[in-house]
Amino acid sequence: MGPILNVPEIFGSDVFNEATMKQRLSPEVYCAWKQCIQTGSSLPLDVANEIAEAMKTWATEKGATHYTHWFQPMTGITAEKHDSFIAPAGDGRVIMEFSGKELVRGESDASSFPSGGLRATFEARGYTAWDPTAFAFVKDNSLYIPTCFFSYTGEALDKKTPLLRSMDEVSREAIRILRLFGDTETKRVTASVGAEQEYFLLPKALYAQREDLRLTGRTLFGAPAPKGEELEDHYFGTIRTRVSSFMKDLDEQLWRLGILSKTKHNEVAPCQHELAPIYSSANSACDANQLIMEIMKKCAAKHDLVCLLHEKPFACVSGSGKHNNWSLATDTGRNLFSPGKTPRQNAQFLLFLAAFVKGVDEYQDLLRCTVASAGNDRRLGANEAPPVIISIYLGDELHAVVDSIISGSNYTGPEKSIMRIGVDVLPPIPKDTTDRNRTSPLAFTGNKFEFRMLGSSQSIAGPNIALNTIMAEELSRFADILESAEDFDAALHELVSDTFISHQRILFNGNGYSEEWRQEAQRRGLSDLRSTTEAMPTYASDKNVALVTKHGIFTEPEFRARNEIYLEAYRKIVNIEAKTTLDMAMRQILPAVTHYSAKLAKDIERKTALGCACKAEKALITKLCTGTDELYDACVTLEEALTNVPTTSTDAANYFCHTVTPKMDQVRKVADSLELITEKTFWPFPTYSDILFY
Ligand code: ADP
Ligand code: MG
Repeated sequence: MGPILNVPEIFGSDVFNEATMKQRLSPEVYCAWKQCIQTGSSLPLDVANEIAEAMKTWATEKGATHYTHWFQPMTGITAEKHDSFIAPAGDGRVIMEFSGKELVRGESDASSFPSGGLRATFEARGYTAWDPTAFAFVKDNSLYIPTCFFSYTGEALDKKTPLLRSMDEVSREAIRILRLFGDTETKRVTASVGAEQEYFLLPKALYAQREDLRLTGRTLFGAPAPKGEELEDHYFGTIRTRVSSFMKDLDEQLWRLGILSKTKHNEVAPCQHELAPIYSSANSACDANQLIMEIMKKCAAKHDLVCLLHEKPFACVSGSGKHNNWSLATDTGRNLFSPGKTPRQNAQFLLFLAAFVKGVDEYQDLLRCTVASAGNDRRLGANEAPPVIISIYLGDELHAVVDSIISGSNYTGPEKSIMRIGVDVLPPIPKDTTDRNRTSPLAFTGNKFEFRMLGSSQSIAGPNIALNTIMAEELSRFADILESAEDFDAALHELVSDTFISHQRILFNGNGYSEEWRQEAQRRGLSDLRSTTEAMPTYASDKNVALVTKHGIFTEPEFRARNEIYLEAYRKIVNIEAKTTLDMAMRQILPAVTHYSAKLAKDIERKTALGCACKAEKALITKLCTGTDELYDACVTLEEALTNVPTTSTDAANYFCHTVTPKMDQVRKVADSLELITEKTFWPFPTYSDILFY
């Protein structure tokens, strides 16, 4: 056993958090900072100067020599550029300096980040601005300052800016509703998020031998191993020593950074695991998730492991996702998705629920687009992850209540009566964590919604921006109606029941994997966007543009830029995969198979001379030769396809989806069948069985 870890002592020890600020700043400056984050105003320079000085002193005590503005460009990962604190002292020596200006604002060459055409290269300057609601921290001898990233003309070039905007919007609109229910205290409603992160861990040495894993993060070849997940022996199984020491190390690093890492366990697939933090505000959960993904990778390397965050690293083995648990909470500590105890609280809960149901129904396509990516295309709808059709699962108890509201009839709760909103108490809604419908993309789990379609490698910003914004929109419409109502209770009852009636098609409690559901969903008119290329054309629809611009989440150019960036990322990823497929097939698999068949041919020749060649060898060599030809042909076809890519972005994305991908899959299919008949020592890289059952 290692040294005993004093968790409360190390927790947040590398974060310039509120406690540290209180300790290290003068009371006036501390109050000024608090004031700024509460009101969203900008920091006066003298306040920023004192905070910067205190941060620098604190950070250098922790070994920091540099500082960096840390931001989240539209690549979906984070970016950083480090400057040292040094300043010449005049006598050939240096002092460590850090000013308020450097803390608050930075300039960085933004030309190499995707901008979706927002910013012409000749003015490729990007600016970063401290997000004072997120704490600075020290990592790898640098002081990290979480920032927003925007262009010279003020357009958001990142994921944090729109997320913060959406949090403000949903807060404002939720408060309008709360006031109608007599809440005069709440000043802020926060979108809270807990993102469960799935990942694979593989031995580094095996990973290093596979070009596909190194270049694309997933296997482009590999026949299924004789054993898969059928014994269900990995889920929640004992954690092997190497992985367990990785997890301990990871927890310690995350705790030091103030990340509430809570749960860890083995997942369904061999070599697959999960980490779940305790929820926090959407903004901090988003920062934390980025750090979790990054530190997982670095920490794995230290343990001679590699962490794969790809959505589908192995065919025929469950892929990885992220479950985004989302809810709204007041600054007075109330969860707005908690069914309350009194009829009044229940009514308010049902109103928030109705707003959510309506929003999801009206903006299914937007939500679907926020989880669309090349990696997730291989996972969603494959009967191991949620289907591509968005629906909401409420659980039996709540579903019965909503049903009774819809039909105006008895619900099958314990009292079997008609639900009268604002008068009746809801039956108990269990916060059941065991018996939930795992096939649902969006499940109510007692006091929050679990959005389960996210890919494991993606930033959680996009989905949460969408959830916050659609909620803000529906709440604002509801508030408009209720604020002008003469009889509040009657208007409320009518609004809630009308909403459930109009949007009941999005509610579904059954098996989301079944073919019947696909047909039923079609009858209900739900959107069934099977791939990134099918989904993305719906992204910047008039309806969605109107939504995001109305709430000031994105300007129209900002929004359209994202559309372009996601399509571009899709094309680039499939292109890299196709080229890697060709490279491995032509330079590794084909030579391996021809060497093996040449050896067989020699054996057959010798044996024939002795009069003892057997039927099996001849049959095998025939199969190998046929397969080799097929593989070669498939490669040629793929290569040709790659020379004919259309130039416009949507056409190119469609081409990669419908023309390149099937050809790539064909190369794989032939190669995988050759793997099964080629002597193992000839096969050029580790197989599924080597990797998944090491
Ligand atoms: P399961 O794997 O059964 O879904 P977990 O306990 O692994 O459950 O994950 C549940 C996640 O939901 C955790 O990250 C938890 O912090 C988060 N969560 C709990 N309550 C809320 C809430 N009110 N808002 C947002 N997230 C929440
Ligand atoms: Mg979950």
